[in-house]
Amino acid sequence: MGVFDHVKGDGYEQIVYCIDDHSGLRAIIAIHSTALGPALGGTRFYPYENEEAALVDVLRLAQGMTYKAAAAGLDLGGGKAVIIGDPRRIKSEELLRAYGRFVDSLGGRYITAEDVGTELADMDTVKRESRWVTGCSATHGGSGDPSPVTAWGVVQGMKACALEAFGDASLKGRTVALQGVGKVGRALCGYLVEEGAKVTIADIDVDNLARAVNDFGVETTSLDAVHKMEVDIFAPCALGGIINDDTISDLRCKVIAGSANNQLARDEHGDKLKDLGILYAPDFVINAGGLINVEDELRGYDRDRAMQKVEGIYRAMQMIFTMASEQHISTARAAVQHAQDRIRKISRIRLVRTTTYGPDNY
Ligand code: NAD
Repeated sequence: MGVFDHVKGDGYEQIVYCIDDHSGLRAIIAIHSTALGPALGGTRFYPYENEEAALVDVLRLAQGMTYKAAAAGLDLGGGKAVIIGDPRRIKSEELLRAYGRFVDSLGGRYITAEDVGTELADMDTVKRESRWVTGCSATHGGSGDPSPVTAWGVVQGMKACALEAFGDASLKGRTVALQGVGKVGRALCGYLVEEGAKVTIADIDVDNLARAVNDFGVETTSLDAVHKMEVDIFAPCALGGIINDDTISDLRCKVIAGSANNQLARDEHGDKLKDLGILYAPDFVINAGGLINVEDELRGYDRDRAMQKVEGIYRAMQMIFTMASEQHISTARAAVQHAQDRIRKISRIRLVRTTTYGPDNY
């Protein structure tokens, strides 16, 4: 396969391979689009089976970030990075700072943040080599862990779903099956219990499960039963690809609204959900809270302002539902269309030149 074959026709701008033999760094930074602004997306640190799997993942994730930023109304493009390897074995100050040098070399075309396998302290380390880092700790001028803000955004999206599906935005008394009580799922569980929802959880990590039961008094179910529950809302907050050929016919919920990225294994699963009468909250719209939060950091972080912007997810979701119903398409397709429309429109207005030529331009 040729080196450009993976990116044919999908509008990618740049792929950067980062190598540092001393620290063992092997990373790939993918910039999908800077049409709306600098490409912002997290750094995933993961023991990929091979380099091709890492490339496929980073490309898919970078494109997802373009849509997420566009649909959230942000002036940001989409990018992502992956560091190849087991973070528990190879993560070191030297490696992270070597990576930071590569981020810096892009001069702000790519801005990074934490993702699976990286955490707040890692971003603080990367920041020692580059200012193009968000999601640092508050002591380093950052906004801290974005997960609770992501969860807050999911609550807003769920309320819009409840209004659409049940005619009432309140979550009081609604039954919710929550898959995954990690950083986002745990915060979401707390918010839902406060709202008066009846939550049942499942998690592969028994410590996370026990902690949530202890703190919120919720019920549990088994790993393979959670998506089959007859509930108002199924909230996937663990893995991608949970809506797939094997699981889709098991679903007994009326709404799917959760934080996991890439919930649909394929686009056609969105169409199938529509046919089944299950309202799907497009993942990159409902889980944009964390991105909205780190974007605020670029202008000097203000928590109240960030939370207020995150509440806009409610309206964004309503707009997607209207678009989907007017055009008789799935909510997943409506969300992609909305993001692509915005990129096209804003790119067009930027064709107007706002500076005049002077001697320096010749
Ligand atoms: P996390 O790793 O903290 O939590 C994931 C949880 O899911 C863990 O408790 C894990 O044990 C559990 N889990 C894994 N496999 C499972 C399975 N088969 N069944 C049930 N539980 C399982 O991750 P997170 O930061 O909470 O993110 C959750 C999802 O939301 C991910 O898909 C992530 O990409 C997405 N997301 C997160 C953020 C954020 O701000 N953290 C923002 C946008 C999207």
